[in-house]
Amino acid sequence: MKFYNIKNNKEQINFVQAVQHGLGSQQGLFFPMYLPEFSKSDIKKLLTMDFISRSCLILSQYIGNDIPHDQLFKCVKNAFSFPIHLKKIINNIFCLELFHGPTLAFKDFGSRFMAQILSYTKKSEQKITILTATSGDTGAAVSHAFYGMKNIRVVILYPKGKISLLQEKLFCTLGNNIVTIAIEGDFDVCQQLVKMSFDDITLRKTVFLNSANSINISRLLAQVCYYFEAIANIPVYKRNNLVISIPSGNFGNLTAALFAKSLGLPINKIIAATNINDTIPRFLATGNWNPKKTISTLSSAMDISEPNNWPRIEELFYHKSWNLHDLISNSVSDDCTKIAIKKLAKINYIAEPHTAISWYSLINNLKNNECGIFIATAHPIKFKEIIENILGCTLKINHDLIDYIDRPTLSYNMPANFQLLRNFLLQ
Ligand SMILES: *Cc1c(COP(=O)(O)O)cnc(C)c1O
Repeated sequence: MKFYNIKNNKEQINFVQAVQHGLGSQQGLFFPMYLPEFSKSDIKKLLTMDFISRSCLILSQYIGNDIPHDQLFKCVKNAFSFPIHLKKIINNIFCLELFHGPTLAFKDFGSRFMAQILSYTKKSEQKITILTATSGDTGAAVSHAFYGMKNIRVVILYPKGKISLLQEKLFCTLGNNIVTIAIEGDFDVCQQLVKMSFDDITLRKTVFLNSANSINISRLLAQVCYYFEAIANIPVYKRNNLVISIPSGNFGNLTAALFAKSLGLPINKIIAATNINDTIPRFLATGNWNPKKTISTLSSAMDISEPNNWPRIEELFYHKSWNLHDLISNSVSDDCTKIAIKKLAKINYIAEPHTAISWYSLINNLKNNECGIFIATAHPIKFKEIIENILGCTLKINHDLIDYIDRPTLSYNMPANFQLLRNFLLQ
Protein backbone atom coordinates (compact mmCIF):
# COMPACT_ATOMS: atom_id res chain seq x y z
CA MET A 1 0.00 0.00 0.00
CA LYS A 2 1.20 3.50 -0.76
CA PHE A 3 0.60 6.67 1.20
CA TYR A 4 0.14 10.09 -0.35
CA ASN A 5 0.81 13.56 0.96
CA ILE A 6 -2.51 15.32 1.58
CA LYS A 7 -0.92 18.61 0.46
CA ASN A 8 0.52 17.11 -2.72
CA ASN A 9 -1.24 13.97 -4.03
CA LYS A 10 1.62 13.22 -6.43
CA GLU A 11 4.02 12.59 -3.54
CA GLN A 12 3.47 8.87 -2.90
CA ILE A 13 5.64 6.61 -0.80
CA ASN A 14 5.38 3.23 0.91
CA PHE A 15 4.72 2.63 4.61
CA VAL A 16 8.35 2.31 5.69
CA GLN A 17 9.29 5.56 3.93
CA ALA A 18 6.28 7.32 5.44
CA VAL A 19 7.43 6.24 8.90
CA GLN A 20 10.97 7.43 8.21
CA HIS A 21 9.94 10.78 6.70
CA GLY A 22 7.18 11.60 9.18
CA LEU A 23 5.90 14.57 7.19
CA GLY A 24 5.78 15.19 3.45
CA SER A 25 6.62 18.41 1.63
CA GLN A 26 4.88 21.59 2.83
CA GLN A 27 4.49 19.78 6.18
CA GLY A 28 1.75 17.63 4.57
CA LEU A 29 0.42 14.54 6.37
CA PHE A 30 0.54 11.09 4.79
CA PHE A 31 -2.72 9.25 4.13
CA PRO A 32 -3.39 5.72 2.76
CA MET A 33 -3.99 5.52 -1.03
CA TYR A 34 -7.12 3.49 -0.44
CA LEU A 35 -9.16 2.62 2.63
CA PRO A 36 -9.34 -1.10 3.32
CA GLU A 37 -12.60 -2.56 4.63
CA PHE A 38 -13.39 -5.89 6.30
CA SER A 39 -16.60 -7.80 5.56
CA LYS A 40 -19.10 -8.39 8.38
CA SER A 41 -17.96 -12.00 8.72
CA ASP A 42 -14.28 -10.94 8.78
CA ILE A 43 -15.08 -8.55 11.63
CA LYS A 44 -16.86 -11.31 13.52
CA LYS A 45 -13.81 -13.55 13.18
CA LEU A 46 -11.40 -10.75 14.09
CA LEU A 47 -13.28 -10.08 17.30
CA THR A 48 -12.66 -13.64 18.48
CA MET A 49 -8.88 -13.49 17.91
CA ASP A 50 -6.19 -12.61 20.43
CA PHE A 51 -4.99 -8.98 20.52
CA ILE A 52 -1.58 -9.52 18.88
CA SER A 53 -2.72 -11.73 15.97
CA ARG A 54 -5.71 -9.48 15.33
CA SER A 55 -3.56 -6.33 15.43
CA CYS A 56 -1.16 -7.84 12.84
CA LEU A 57 -4.08 -8.51 10.51
CA ILE A 58 -5.40 -4.97 10.92
CA LEU A 59 -2.00 -3.35 10.39
CA SER A 60 -1.15 -5.51 7.38
CA GLN A 61 -4.23 -4.07 5.62
CA TYR A 62 -2.31 -0.80 5.46
CA ILE A 63 1.27 -2.03 5.37
CA GLY A 64 0.77 -4.66 2.67
CA ASN A 65 3.97 -6.53 1.81
CA ASP A 66 6.34 -3.79 2.92
CA ILE A 67 7.17 -5.76 6.05
CA PRO A 68 7.09 -9.58 6.02
CA HIS A 69 4.39 -11.05 8.23
CA ASP A 70 6.71 -12.73 10.74
CA GLN A 71 8.65 -9.48 11.18
CA LEU A 72 5.47 -7.48 11.65
CA PHE A 73 4.33 -10.03 14.22
CA LYS A 74 7.57 -9.54 16.16
CA CYS A 75 7.23 -5.74 16.05
CA VAL A 76 3.62 -5.86 17.23
CA LYS A 77 4.38 -8.36 19.98
CA ASN A 78 7.30 -6.29 21.30
CA ALA A 79 5.35 -3.05 21.07
CA PHE A 80 2.05 -4.16 22.61
CA SER A 81 3.57 -5.95 25.57
CA PHE A 82 1.19 -4.66 28.25
CA PRO A 83 -2.50 -5.17 28.99
CA ILE A 84 -5.59 -3.19 28.00
CA HIS A 85 -8.46 -3.23 30.49
CA LEU A 86 -12.11 -2.69 29.68
CA LYS A 87 -13.86 -1.93 32.97
CA LYS A 88 -17.59 -1.94 33.46
CA ILE A 89 -18.51 1.24 35.33
CA ILE A 90 -22.29 0.84 35.39
CA ASN A 91 -24.76 -1.19 33.32
CA ASN A 92 -24.23 0.26 29.88
CA ILE A 93 -21.04 2.27 30.45
CA PHE A 94 -17.54 0.90 30.05
CA CYS A 95 -14.11 2.46 30.44
CA LEU A 96 -11.29 1.53 28.10
CA GLU A 97 -8.09 1.90 30.10
CA LEU A 98 -5.17 2.50 27.77
CA PHE A 99 -2.69 3.53 30.45
CA HIS A 100 -1.15 0.25 31.57
CA GLY A 101 1.99 0.66 29.47
CA PRO A 102 5.48 1.57 30.72
CA THR A 103 4.79 5.33 30.91
CA LEU A 104 1.15 5.25 31.97
CA ALA A 105 -0.53 6.93 28.99
CA PHE A 106 -2.01 5.64 25.72
CA LYS A 107 0.94 7.18 23.86
CA ASP A 108 2.93 4.03 24.71
CA PHE A 109 1.04 2.13 21.98
CA GLY A 110 2.02 4.43 19.11
CA SER A 111 5.51 5.27 20.32
CA ARG A 112 6.50 1.66 20.95
CA PHE A 113 5.18 0.47 17.60
CA MET A 114 7.01 3.27 15.81
CA ALA A 115 10.25 2.42 17.64
CA GLN A 116 9.94 -1.23 16.60
CA ILE A 117 9.33 -0.35 12.96
CA LEU A 118 12.22 2.12 12.83
CA SER A 119 14.68 -0.22 14.46
CA TYR A 120 13.60 -3.07 12.15
CA THR A 121 13.96 -1.00 8.97
CA LYS A 122 17.14 0.84 9.93
CA LYS A 123 20.41 -0.33 8.39
CA SER A 124 22.29 -1.92 11.27
CA GLU A 125 25.33 0.39 11.45
CA GLN A 126 23.47 3.56 10.56
CA LYS A 127 23.27 6.05 13.43
CA ILE A 128 20.11 8.11 13.69
CA THR A 129 18.87 10.82 16.05
CA ILE A 130 15.24 11.09 17.09
CA LEU A 131 14.52 14.72 17.97
CA THR A 132 11.20 15.51 19.68
CA ALA A 133 9.64 18.28 21.75
CA THR A 134 7.26 17.33 24.52
CA SER A 135 4.76 18.96 26.84
CA GLY A 136 4.78 15.89 29.07
CA ASP A 137 3.51 12.46 27.99
CA THR A 138 5.14 12.09 24.58
CA GLY A 139 8.64 12.54 26.03
CA ALA A 140 8.22 9.63 28.40
CA ALA A 141 6.55 7.35 25.86
CA VAL A 142 9.17 7.97 23.16
CA SER A 143 12.16 7.67 25.54
CA HIS A 144 11.01 4.38 26.98
CA ALA A 145 10.13 3.04 23.54
CA PHE A 146 13.63 3.70 22.15
CA TYR A 147 15.59 3.11 25.37
CA GLY A 148 18.67 0.95 24.83
CA MET A 149 18.19 0.60 21.06
CA LYS A 150 21.52 0.39 19.25
CA ASN A 151 22.65 3.35 17.13
CA ILE A 152 19.53 5.36 17.92
CA ARG A 153 20.05 8.54 19.94
CA VAL A 154 16.92 10.19 21.33
CA VAL A 155 17.01 13.90 22.11
CA ILE A 156 13.98 15.34 23.91
CA LEU A 157 13.39 19.05 24.43
CA TYR A 158 10.97 20.16 27.11
CA PRO A 159 9.98 23.46 28.71
CA LYS A 160 11.95 23.88 31.92
CA GLY A 161 9.72 23.87 35.01
CA LYS A 162 6.52 23.45 33.03
CA ILE A 163 5.89 19.72 33.32
CA SER A 164 4.95 17.72 36.39
CA LEU A 165 7.69 16.19 38.54
CA LEU A 166 6.69 12.60 37.77
CA GLN A 167 6.44 13.38 34.06
CA GLU A 168 9.99 14.82 34.14
CA LYS A 169 11.46 12.01 36.20
CA LEU A 170 9.96 9.38 33.91
CA PHE A 171 12.18 10.35 30.99
CA CYS A 172 14.97 12.56 32.34
CA THR A 173 16.49 9.89 34.58
CA LEU A 174 17.07 7.14 32.01
CA GLY A 175 20.49 8.04 30.58
CA ASN A 176 22.09 5.64 28.07
CA ASN A 177 20.85 6.67 24.59
CA ILE A 178 18.25 9.10 25.95
CA VAL A 179 19.37 12.73 26.10
CA THR A 180 17.04 15.30 27.65
CA ILE A 181 17.33 19.07 27.44
CA ALA A 182 15.39 21.50 29.63
CA ILE A 183 14.84 24.57 27.47
CA GLU A 184 14.35 28.01 28.98
CA GLY A 185 11.02 28.72 27.33
CA ASP A 186 7.59 27.23 26.77
CA PHE A 187 6.45 24.27 24.69
CA ASP A 188 6.00 26.37 21.55
CA VAL A 189 9.63 27.46 21.77
CA CYS A 190 10.76 23.81 22.03
CA GLN A 191 8.65 22.90 19.01
CA GLN A 192 10.14 25.86 17.13
CA LEU A 193 13.68 24.60 17.83
CA VAL A 194 12.73 21.15 16.52
CA LYS A 195 11.30 22.67 13.34
CA MET A 196 14.44 24.77 12.79
CA SER A 197 16.56 21.64 13.15
CA PHE A 198 14.51 19.84 10.51
CA ASP A 199 14.79 22.83 8.16
CA ASP A 200 18.60 22.74 8.47
CA ILE A 201 19.50 20.35 5.65
CA THR A 202 23.17 19.98 6.63
CA LEU A 203 22.26 19.11 10.17
CA ARG A 204 19.53 16.75 9.04
CA LYS A 205 21.87 14.82 6.75
CA THR A 206 24.85 14.77 9.12
CA VAL A 207 23.05 13.25 12.08
CA PHE A 208 20.14 11.54 10.25
CA LEU A 209 17.38 13.34 12.09
CA ASN A 210 13.97 11.74 12.51
CA SER A 211 11.02 12.99 14.50
CA ALA A 212 8.73 10.81 16.58
CA ASN A 213 5.82 13.18 16.92
CA SER A 214 2.19 12.22 16.84
CA ILE A 215 1.57 12.85 13.15
CA ASN A 216 3.74 9.85 12.23
CA ILE A 217 1.52 7.37 10.40
CA SER A 218 2.88 4.41 12.41
CA ARG A 219 1.69 5.94 15.68
CA LEU A 220 -1.75 6.50 14.24
CA LEU A 221 -2.21 3.00 12.78
CA ALA A 222 -1.04 1.35 16.01
CA GLN A 223 -3.89 3.10 17.81
CA VAL A 224 -6.52 1.63 15.48
CA CYS A 225 -5.87 -1.79 17.06
CA TYR A 226 -7.14 -1.07 20.57
CA TYR A 227 -10.61 -0.05 19.41
CA PHE A 228 -11.06 -3.59 18.10
CA GLU A 229 -9.87 -4.95 21.43
CA ALA A 230 -12.40 -2.77 23.25
CA ILE A 231 -15.32 -4.11 21.28
CA ALA A 232 -14.05 -7.68 21.44
CA ASN A 233 -14.53 -7.36 25.21
CA ILE A 234 -18.06 -5.94 25.08
CA PRO A 235 -20.77 -8.63 25.43
CA VAL A 236 -22.10 -9.48 21.95
CA TYR A 237 -25.69 -8.43 22.74
CA LYS A 238 -24.47 -4.91 23.60
CA ARG A 239 -22.54 -4.33 20.38
CA ASN A 240 -25.41 -3.05 18.21
CA ASN A 241 -25.56 0.52 19.37
CA LEU A 242 -22.10 1.56 20.48
CA VAL A 243 -20.92 5.06 21.31
CA ILE A 244 -17.27 5.91 21.99
CA SER A 245 -16.08 9.10 23.67
CA ILE A 246 -12.47 10.22 23.11
CA PRO A 247 -10.64 13.00 24.99
CA SER A 248 -8.91 14.95 22.23
CA GLY A 249 -6.05 17.40 21.79
CA ASN A 250 -4.21 16.76 18.55
CA PHE A 251 -7.02 14.39 17.51
CA GLY A 252 -4.74 11.42 16.79
CA ASN A 253 -6.72 9.10 19.02
CA LEU A 254 -9.96 10.21 17.39
CA THR A 255 -8.54 9.77 13.89
CA ALA A 256 -7.58 6.21 14.84
CA ALA A 257 -11.15 5.49 16.00
CA LEU A 258 -12.47 6.77 12.68
CA PHE A 259 -10.03 4.52 10.81
CA ALA A 260 -11.31 1.59 12.90
CA LYS A 261 -14.87 2.49 11.90
CA SER A 262 -13.86 2.80 8.26
CA LEU A 263 -12.44 -0.75 8.46
CA GLY A 264 -15.95 -1.91 9.41
CA LEU A 265 -15.79 -1.96 13.21
CA PRO A 266 -19.37 -1.41 14.43
CA ILE A 267 -19.07 1.94 16.18
CA ASN A 268 -22.30 3.87 15.86
CA LYS A 269 -21.27 7.25 17.20
CA ILE A 270 -18.00 8.91 18.04
CA ILE A 271 -17.71 11.81 20.45
CA ALA A 272 -14.81 14.26 20.26
CA ALA A 273 -14.39 15.50 23.83
CA THR A 274 -12.23 18.58 24.31
CA ASN A 275 -11.50 21.01 27.13
CA ILE A 276 -12.22 24.71 26.59
CA ASN A 277 -9.66 24.78 23.81
CA ASP A 278 -12.63 24.10 21.57
CA THR A 279 -11.59 24.88 17.99
CA ILE A 280 -13.26 21.70 16.71
CA PRO A 281 -16.60 21.90 18.60
CA ARG A 282 -16.93 25.51 17.35
CA PHE A 283 -15.92 24.51 13.84
CA LEU A 284 -18.51 21.71 13.73
CA ALA A 285 -21.20 24.06 15.08
CA THR A 286 -20.49 27.06 12.85
CA GLY A 287 -18.36 25.88 9.94
CA ASN A 288 -15.79 28.56 10.77
CA TRP A 289 -12.19 27.61 11.46
CA ASN A 290 -11.24 30.07 14.15
CA PRO A 291 -8.55 28.84 16.58
CA LYS A 292 -8.09 31.05 19.62
CA LYS A 293 -5.08 31.49 21.85
CA THR A 294 -4.44 28.26 23.80
CA ILE A 295 -5.59 28.38 27.42
CA SER A 296 -4.04 26.33 30.24
CA THR A 297 -6.44 23.81 31.79
CA LEU A 298 -6.42 20.86 34.19
CA SER A 299 -6.23 18.55 31.16
CA SER A 300 -2.91 19.97 29.94
CA ALA A 301 -2.23 17.31 27.29
CA MET A 302 -5.25 18.69 25.41
CA ASP A 303 -4.27 22.36 25.61
CA ILE A 304 -4.05 22.61 21.84
CA SER A 305 -6.00 24.91 19.57
CA GLU A 306 -4.72 23.78 16.18
CA PRO A 307 -5.13 19.99 16.22
CA ASN A 308 -2.58 18.69 13.74
CA ASN A 309 -4.47 15.53 12.76
CA TRP A 310 -7.60 17.38 11.60
CA PRO A 311 -6.70 17.38 7.87
CA ARG A 312 -6.65 13.56 8.01
CA ILE A 313 -10.15 13.53 9.48
CA GLU A 314 -11.49 15.75 6.71
CA GLU A 315 -9.75 13.56 4.11
CA LEU A 316 -11.31 10.43 5.62
CA PHE A 317 -14.84 11.87 5.71
CA TYR A 318 -14.42 12.99 2.11
CA HIS A 319 -13.33 9.55 0.87
CA LYS A 320 -16.01 7.69 2.83
CA SER A 321 -18.71 10.21 1.87
CA TRP A 322 -19.49 10.56 5.56
CA ASN A 323 -21.07 13.70 6.95
CA LEU A 324 -18.90 15.70 9.36
CA HIS A 325 -22.06 16.63 11.24
CA ASP A 326 -22.38 13.01 12.38
CA LEU A 327 -19.29 13.57 14.49
CA ILE A 328 -20.44 14.63 17.95
CA SER A 329 -18.30 17.09 19.85
CA ASN A 330 -18.39 18.38 23.35
CA SER A 331 -16.25 20.95 25.13
CA VAL A 332 -15.84 20.65 28.92
CA SER A 333 -14.73 23.44 31.28
CA ASP A 334 -12.39 22.92 34.23
CA ASP A 335 -15.36 23.34 36.60
CA CYS A 336 -17.24 20.52 34.91
CA THR A 337 -14.04 18.44 34.83
CA LYS A 338 -13.88 18.77 38.63
CA ILE A 339 -17.54 17.78 38.96
CA ALA A 340 -16.89 14.76 36.77
CA ILE A 341 -13.90 13.66 38.86
CA LYS A 342 -16.03 13.92 42.03
CA LYS A 343 -18.99 12.04 40.53
CA LEU A 344 -16.75 9.26 39.28
CA ALA A 345 -15.06 9.00 42.68
CA LYS A 346 -18.53 8.51 44.23
CA ILE A 347 -19.01 5.43 42.09
CA ASN A 348 -15.51 4.28 43.03
CA TYR A 349 -13.68 5.20 39.89
CA ILE A 350 -10.65 7.47 40.21
CA ALA A 351 -10.09 9.36 36.97
CA GLU A 352 -7.57 12.00 35.99
CA PRO A 353 -8.82 15.14 34.17
CA HIS A 354 -8.56 13.89 30.54
CA THR A 355 -10.45 10.72 31.36
CA ALA A 356 -13.03 12.67 33.35
CA ILE A 357 -13.73 14.84 30.29
CA SER A 358 -14.24 11.75 28.20
CA TRP A 359 -16.76 10.30 30.71
CA TYR A 360 -18.59 13.62 31.12
CA SER A 361 -19.02 13.99 27.35
CA LEU A 362 -20.27 10.44 27.09
CA ILE A 363 -23.01 10.70 29.70
CA ASN A 364 -24.08 14.05 28.25
CA ASN A 365 -24.74 12.43 24.90
CA LEU A 366 -25.70 8.82 25.66
CA LYS A 367 -29.27 7.66 24.99
CA ASN A 368 -31.07 4.90 26.91
CA ASN A 369 -30.74 2.23 24.25
CA GLU A 370 -27.04 2.87 23.67
CA CYS A 371 -23.93 1.31 25.15
CA GLY A 372 -21.07 3.72 25.80
CA ILE A 373 -17.30 3.43 26.11
CA PHE A 374 -15.17 6.29 27.39
CA ILE A 375 -11.43 6.27 26.79
CA ALA A 376 -9.07 6.59 29.76
CA THR A 377 -5.87 8.07 28.38
CA ALA A 378 -3.64 8.41 31.45
CA HIS A 379 -3.14 6.72 34.81
CA PRO A 380 -4.47 8.83 37.71
CA ILE A 381 -1.08 8.69 39.43
CA LYS A 382 0.28 11.05 36.77
CA PHE A 383 -2.13 13.70 38.03
CA LYS A 384 -2.16 12.72 41.70
CA GLU A 385 -1.85 16.26 43.10
CA ILE A 386 -4.67 17.63 40.93
CA ILE A 387 -7.00 14.78 41.87
CA GLU A 388 -6.16 15.08 45.58
CA ASN A 389 -6.90 18.81 45.49
CA ILE A 390 -10.28 18.21 43.89
CA LEU A 391 -11.32 15.30 46.09
CA GLY A 392 -9.81 16.82 49.23
CA CYS A 393 -8.17 13.61 50.34
CA THR A 394 -4.94 11.71 49.95
CA LEU A 395 -5.06 9.03 47.31
CA LYS A 396 -3.67 5.62 47.91
CA ILE A 397 -2.53 4.90 44.40
CA ASN A 398 0.58 2.85 44.18
CA HIS A 399 2.72 2.15 41.22
CA ASP A 400 6.32 1.02 40.74
CA LEU A 401 6.98 4.12 38.67
CA ILE A 402 6.67 6.32 41.73
CA ASP A 403 10.24 5.15 42.49
CA TYR A 404 11.44 7.31 39.61
CA ILE A 405 10.87 10.35 41.84
CA ASP A 406 14.03 9.51 43.81
CA ARG A 407 16.31 9.14 40.80
CA PRO A 408 18.69 11.98 39.84
CA THR A 409 17.63 14.12 36.88
CA LEU A 410 20.20 13.93 34.06
CA SER A 411 18.94 16.77 31.86
CA TYR A 412 21.10 19.45 30.27
CA ASN A 413 19.93 23.03 30.60
CA MET A 414 19.93 25.25 27.54
CA PRO A 415 18.66 28.69 26.62
CA ALA A 416 16.30 28.74 23.63
CA ASN A 417 19.11 29.23 21.12
CA PHE A 418 19.25 27.27 17.87
CA GLN A 419 23.03 27.57 17.35
CA LEU A 420 23.65 26.01 20.76
CA LEU A 421 21.26 23.18 20.02
CA ARG A 422 22.79 22.68 16.57
CA ASN A 423 26.33 22.40 18.01
CA PHE A 424 25.05 20.03 20.65
CA LEU A 425 23.41 17.75 18.07
CA LEU A 426 26.54 17.72 15.89
CA GLN A 427 28.84 16.61 18.74
C1 LIG B 1 -1.94 13.13 24.27
C2 LIG B 1 -3.03 12.99 25.23
C3 LIG B 1 -4.39 13.25 24.90
C4 LIG B 1 -4.81 13.76 23.54
O1 LIG B 1 -4.67 12.81 22.53
P1 LIG B 1 -4.69 13.25 20.99
O2 LIG B 1 -4.45 12.02 20.22
O3 LIG B 1 -3.58 14.27 20.84
O4 LIG B 1 -6.02 13.87 20.72
C5 LIG B 1 -5.37 13.00 25.85
N1 LIG B 1 -5.05 12.58 27.09
C6 LIG B 1 -3.77 12.36 27.47
C7 LIG B 1 -3.50 11.92 28.87
C8 LIG B 1 -2.71 12.55 26.56
O5 LIG B 1 -1.43 12.35 26.95
